[in-house]
Amino acid sequence: MSQSRTEQLKQHFASRVTTQVRHLLDVWRRLNELHWPPEIFNELVETNTKLVKQAEKFASEDILKQANLIQDTLAPLIESKSSPSSQHIRTLNEAIYDLSELSLRKTDHELDLNIVQTRKPVILALHDLPLSEKIQHQMSFFSIDAFCATSEEDLKNRLKTRLPSVIIIDIDFGGSEKGIEIVKEYNSTRESTVPAVFISGTKADLPHRLAATRAGGIQYLSDANPSQLITIVEQLTHSMPQEPYKVMIVEDSRSQAAFVERVLNNAGMITKAVIQPMTVLQVMEKFQPEIIIMDMYMPDCNGMELAAVIRQQERYMRVPILYLSGEEDREKQLKAMSQGGDDFLTKPVDPKHLIATINNRGRRARALASLIVRDSLTGLFNHTHTLERLAQECAKAKQSGASLVMGILDIDHFKQVNDTYGHPVGDRVICSLALFLKQRLRKSDTIGRYGGEEFVIILPAADEQEAFLVLDGIRESFSHLKQPAGPTEFNVTFSTGLVEYDGENQDFLVEWADQALYQAKRGGRNRIVIYRQEDSSKPLEEG
Ligand code: GH3
Ligand code: MG
Ligand code: MG
Ligand code: MG
Repeated sequence: MSQSRTEQLKQHFASRVTTQVRHLLDVWRRLNELHWPPEIFNELVETNTKLVKQAEKFASEDILKQANLIQDTLAPLIESKSSPSSQHIRTLNEAIYDLSELSLRKTDHELDLNIVQTRKPVILALHDLPLSEKIQHQMSFFSIDAFCATSEEDLKNRLKTRLPSVIIIDIDFGGSEKGIEIVKEYNSTRESTVPAVFISGTKADLPHRLAATRAGGIQYLSDANPSQLITIVEQLTHSMPQEPYKVMIVEDSRSQAAFVERVLNNAGMITKAVIQPMTVLQVMEKFQPEIIIMDMYMPDCNGMELAAVIRQQERYMRVPILYLSGEEDREKQLKAMSQGGDDFLTKPVDPKHLIATINNRGRRARALASLIVRDSLTGLFNHTHTLERLAQECAKAKQSGASLVMGILDIDHFKQVNDTYGHPVGDRVICSLALFLKQRLRKSDTIGRYGGEEFVIILPAADEQEAFLVLDGIRESFSHLKQPAGPTEFNVTFSTGLVEYDGENQDFLVEWADQALYQAKRGGRNRIVIYRQEDSSKPLEEG
C-alpha cells in the first residue's frame, strides 16, 4: 500500500516538473521565433530557475542536471547583457533539445489535471446541452478542459473572464445566426482571433459558410461529433505544433559553419555542424538530419563525392542536400546537382533566402516522408517503418547500454465492434486509441499501427516495470472511454504483450511480445503481460 502511495506521489511531482519543462520549451521556441527580445530572454531565465528549483525539490535528477547546464549557459549572457554568441545558442539549443527528450510520460490522472491547467479551455455552446456535456466528458479523457455554455448570457460572461483556445458553437446559438454574430463581435475586440468551429445541420450554403469564416470560423460541420471535435481541438492546441527542423551542416571552415548555425538557430532550427567530412556518416546515424547543407570544397573529399555516398544509402535517399558554396561556375553547379544535390546556394548567402529554402525543402521532405512512413487512417507509423524504427532503437540501446521495451497492443473483441456497429465506427475506435497513445507516451517513444487493430510501441530508456506501469495506466483509462455509435455508446478494451530488449535477441522481440499478448488474451483480455523466457514454452505446448 505504502509502496503505491509513494509511487503516486512520485508521479504527482514528476508531473509538475514536466509541466515546467513544457513551459520552458514553449518560451525557447518563442524566443527564437521573435529573434531574442530581452523580455522573452528574461522569461526564459526565470522559467529555467523555477525548473531547477522544482527538479531539486522533487528529485528529478536527469532534469536537474540538464536545467543546471542551461543555467550555466545562461549565466554569462545575463551578466554581459550582450547578444549571445553562436556557441552559446548552440549549447543552449542542444541542452534544451536533450531536455525535451527527457520529458516524462504522462501516466496518471493527476498529471492530466496538471496539463489541463496549462491549456486554455474549450468553450462549447450547443443547443443540445446534454450533448454538450457528453462532449465535455469525452474531452476530459483527452485532457481537454471544456466549458458548456447554457445560454447566450452565460457564454458572453464566460468570454469576458477567460480566453478560450477554441469556441465550438451552433450558428443559431441564442437565436437565428446569433452564434456567428457573437463570435464575430468577440473577435473584433481582440488582436488575435480565437478560432471557432461552427455547427449547423441545416444551413450549409456558401453565404453562411462565408459569414462563419469571416467571423473566425476554421471549420463548418453539419453535426457535433465528439471524436471529430477532439481531433480538431487537439490539432489546434498542441503545445508544439511544429517540430523544429534538424539540419546538418557539412563545412570545413569553422567560422562559416558557425555563421550558418547561428542563422538557422535564430530561426528556431536544430543544427549540427560537421567540420571533418570523414565523420559525416557517424554523425548522421546519431543526429538523423532532415536536411543537409553541404560545402563543395573540403579537404579529404569534396561535397559532391560525399553527397553521392550519402545517396547510395537507401534510408538517406530522400534527405534534401543543399550545396552552399562560393562556386559560381554554372557548369560545376549543374554537375554538383546531378550528383544528388537538390539546390545550389552561393556564398555569401542571404539569411532570409537560406531559411526560406530550408523551410520549403523541409516541408516537402516531411510531407513526402509522411506519405511513405505513415498510416493514412491514424497518422501513426506504418508496419514497415515501425519495424525499421525498432531496429534503429535497438541499435541505439545496444550501443549506449540503455534499456528498451517493445510491446504489441491488440484491441479486444474488435470483430464484434465491427459486426455490431459497422466498419466506420470500428475505424473511429482505432483512431481514438491512436490519439490516446500519442497523448500519453513520450515524444521519444515510437507508436506504429502494426496491422488492422494492432499497434506496436517502442519505449527507449524504460525497463519492463516502468513500461508496465505506463501501459497499465493507459489500459485502465482507455477502458473507461465511451465510444459513441449513433444514439448509443460502448466501451472497448485492449490487451498488450511487452518484452524488454536484452541487447541480444532483437530478431525475436516481435515474436516474444506476440507470445505475451497471446497470454494476455488467454488470461481474459484487458490486461498486460510481460514476456518471460522461462515459461514461454508453456502456452505453445498447450496450444
Ligand atoms: P481478440 O480479442 O482475440 O483480439 O478478438 P478480435 O475480434 O479483435 O480478433 P481478430 O483479430 O480475429 O479480429 C480483428 C478484426 O479487426 C478483424 C477485421 O475485420 C477487423 N479489422 C482489421 N482492420 C480493420 C480496420 O482498419 N478497420 C476496421 N473497422 N476493422 C478492421
Ligand atoms: Mg570549404
Ligand atoms: Mg488482431
Ligand atoms: Mg483483436
